[in-house]
Amino acid sequence: MDYDRFFADRLSALRGEGAYRVFADLERQVGAFPKARNYRDGKVSDVTIWCNNDYLGMGMSDHVIGAMCEATKATGAGAGGTRNISGTNHYHVLLEQELADWHNKDSALLFTSGYVANMTTLMTLGGRIPDLVIFSDEKNHNSMIEGVRHSRAPKEIFKHNDVEDLDRRMAKYPKEHPKLVAFESVYSMDGDIAPLREIVDCAKAHNALTFLDEVHAVGMYGERGSGVAERDGVADEIDIIQATMGKAIGVIGGYIAGKADLIDFVRSFGNGFIFTTSLPPSVASGALASVRYLKDHNDLRLRHQERAATLKRRFTEANIPIIPSVSHIVPVLVGDAKLCKQASDMLLNDHGIYVQPINYPTVARGTERLRVTPTPLHTDADMDHLVDSFMEVWGRLGIQMAA
Ligand code: PMP
Repeated sequence: MDYDRFFADRLSALRGEGAYRVFADLERQVGAFPKARNYRDGKVSDVTIWCNNDYLGMGMSDHVIGAMCEATKATGAGAGGTRNISGTNHYHVLLEQELADWHNKDSALLFTSGYVANMTTLMTLGGRIPDLVIFSDEKNHNSMIEGVRHSRAPKEIFKHNDVEDLDRRMAKYPKEHPKLVAFESVYSMDGDIAPLREIVDCAKAHNALTFLDEVHAVGMYGERGSGVAERDGVADEIDIIQATMGKAIGVIGGYIAGKADLIDFVRSFGNGFIFTTSLPPSVASGALASVRYLKDHNDLRLRHQERAATLKRRFTEANIPIIPSVSHIVPVLVGDAKLCKQASDMLLNDHGIYVQPINYPTVARGTERLRVTPTPLHTDADMDHLVDSFMEVWGRLGIQMAA
């Protein structure tokens, strides 16, 4: 085989489809966020970031940065080992306790990312609970899909947020047959939210475990900010809550929270937990400071929700076609990969606005979009500039406006 040719051809096909990924080379600025520096072709320009998953700007807060710097100075740069072999630092222990308390669960377990948390937990449960069938929402994140796949457990993919379809599929199995339902609360590309109460009731009726990904919800929903399960009053009925520390918490890392023995089981059998170096203590310290802050600052969540609502209203008034979203995520439909990339390039190069195009396979072909995520730090003036720029680019490219 001509390997060089193979790689070059595949990449050029991607470019032809407009689906080739180009990363913006950014330097986020403490004190100026959501403004950042953009490095491109040897030049540096100022941009406003409108697609950040540091949803609340916690990664830029003095509080979190201070905790990380202090922990680095006190305990060093890295953890020094896997959790089992000298890599459990006191900050990991404190953070796991804090996360368990946040979700009102017995225990929590840290992973190096949300991706690893999903993959490892589903692989471990699916691979080790005899005869377990996994019921997975068709729009679940790739990390869950890979976890289910690698577990080799039989699976049923149910229609997105469709409790009747889930019920029908579970009813094929006797009540005592082991089952697990894997789903998300906030779906990050459309910004819709799962009917948690209905899914949990359905799962219970069939005696199934529930696994909920709250990656796009922790920090942002519920009075204490622990997610949509808290907001909807169902957290106590969910067996495993999974989330990231890389988005609203502002740092990096993932975790699960649940009953003591279930978490201990994953700790004891989960390869993606056991065989890898643990997070730097500074990361655990930063996340700890962030979670403690988030628990007590509903004002930040309210401000965030106000910003998202205002942005949706502003786009709607300007006839920019947004996909209806009940969350903080504001997806603007383009519907074509090349146009989506062009729009993103023009916004960046001509208007200093950075919104990354979202293309297939992340979303279905024909639904390519710009996924805009406001933070509490985006001002009215930032929004004026954003909406005016979208209108100019939409007009120039002749992209379909809202009716
Ligand atoms: N679950 C969902 C729904 C996600 O969107 C993501 C990442 N974007 C992850 C899990 C993985 O989390 P992390 O970025 O911490 O690996």
